[in-house]
Amino acid sequence: MNNMQISTVHGALEWASSFLQKHNCEPKVAEILLLHIMDWSKTDLIIHLRDSIAEDKLADFQQKIEQHTETKIPVQHLTGVEAFYGRMFHVNKHVLIPRPETEELVQQVIEVVDKTNITCVDIGTGSGVIAITLAKEWEKNRQVNMLATDLSEKALKVAKKNADKHEAKVDFYHGNFLEPLITQGKKVDLIVSNPPYIAYDEAGDLSEIVKHFDPEMALFADQNGLAAYQQIIHQAGRVLNKQGMIFFEIGHQQAEAVKQLIKQQFPNSEVTIFQDINGKDRIVRVML
Ligand code: GLN
Repeated sequence: MNNMQISTVHGALEWASSFLQKHNCEPKVAEILLLHIMDWSKTDLIIHLRDSIAEDKLADFQQKIEQHTETKIPVQHLTGVEAFYGRMFHVNKHVLIPRPETEELVQQVIEVVDKTNITCVDIGTGSGVIAITLAKEWEKNRQVNMLATDLSEKALKVAKKNADKHEAKVDFYHGNFLEPLITQGKKVDLIVSNPPYIAYDEAGDLSEIVKHFDPEMALFADQNGLAAYQQIIHQAGRVLNKQGMIFFEIGHQQAEAVKQLIKQQFPNSEVTIFQDINGKDRIVRVML
């Protein structure tokens, strides 16, 4: 490559986009990485497009683009951040990179829950995106008591860092699903969770990137991917207040199976399935 040609911001982007495309990678990674390295907004980028780019920044940019194409490391692991529901969250290899489907789950919760005084738990909080987003959205006009659990101490560290970053009031607990709440006799009105739901024998269908870089415990569950729902539903009876609600993100072929699990435990509950933006079953809402 000729650094003379790519000495401007525009030139660097052009080089990176075609380099990425040549290596079957997403060309949009170029802009995400450059904005991160320069600490720019998109508007900054437009303003500086014809400016020359500092040598050290360019070297860093080229190194990261090459690393991405060689190792397929997700861009979020290079930048250390991902956007979720309009906020930026720290991520690393110990947490699932938040997905847009989960933003739809959060949206659904916000649309439906109308209590002015809410106690809510996010199970398997990972980077903390669900708990922190709900805490921030609700703090504007409600009394919120937000709890979050995770079995991974390393994930909880990331979640706490994100809660600090966003000044979100969330109480974090280490433990398996609802166990820490049961031990402490805590009750909640609302359970929200995007638990691991991929069956081990479906691992072959996942992209290499997901398999290599997202934590295994965030992705896979026994019992054909249903084990986490089973355990949460089983524990939920001891934690949910009267007229409590559960919101789950689910795999697109799991709606019926999850509904059955819920009906076994809560025969009188009202169970509704919602589709994601791609028309796939993605969210289960349970009203006790
Ligand atoms: N709650 C986090 C998220 O939705 C982590 C989910 C998980 O690790 N399965 O991104």
